[in-house]
Amino acid sequence: MSARPAIFVSHGSPMLMFEPVPARAFLSALGAEIGRPKAIVAVSAHWETSAPRASTVARPPTIHDFGGFPDELYRVQYPAPGAPDVARRAIDLLGKAGIAGAIDPGRGLDHGAWVPLALMYPDADVPVTQLSVQTPLGPAHHVALGRALAPLREEDVLVLATGSATHNLMTMERGVHDAPPPWARAFDDWLAAALESGDEDDLVNYRRRAPYAREAHPRDEHLLPVFVAFGAAGAGAKGRRLHRSFTHGSLSMAAFAFE
Ligand code: ZN
Repeated sequence: MSARPAIFVSHGSPMLMFEPVPARAFLSALGAEIGRPKAIVAVSAHWETSAPRASTVARPPTIHDFGGFPDELYRVQYPAPGAPDVARRAIDLLGKAGIAGAIDPGRGLDHGAWVPLALMYPDADVPVTQLSVQTPLGPAHHVALGRALAPLREEDVLVLATGSATHNLMTMERGVHDAPPPWARAFDDWLAAALESGDEDDLVNYRRRAPYAREAHPRDEHLLPVFVAFGAAGAGAKGRRLHRSFTHGSLSMAAFAFE
């Protein structure tokens, strides 16, 4: 069996569950396109910890970690089984790479994980563990974290990194789709070019080198998962853009595969 590509998706607003936008159609087709892995490690921007943690919960609860949305969104459950063995394997691989992490016996699935997963694998039959991001440690740490996890790709485990290619909640325009402000498009274009050329030096220094980095990412956390997916494909890897669209004004829904 060849190694599974690592994938980065932008998860957008949780209302993606119900909005008939191109990104929803893309994610709804993606699971069938890449097939069903043995398990998934979901690296979510919505779980920030000081050191890596991987969830060992057998039946991860669906976490509705947002406010002010319609009731129907709070009723969504994603009852996929957990993947405690894969969580332990991930922490073991990190340890071998000199990155100290720990298992987490309590964490469920936040919306960074369950929104794309509910579209990709609606039957909720693929075991999933969540892995956290460490925002203060920045992009290079997350490339290293991905590198450490690369063997999982040979073990039929999907490394699914979930964040946002642009993420500035102050500049969103609810309901305005595929009409991004020029700065959002410029950053999105820069990111795609850097990933497609595999320019690791530019990528880890994106805050200084990318146009409108401050506007696109007031904080790093929603971009950090992309570095994990990039790293998981090994040194010299290049990204392949799977999808491009914008929702709610400035929110890029870009997705990439790395192999
Ligand atoms: Zn998010």
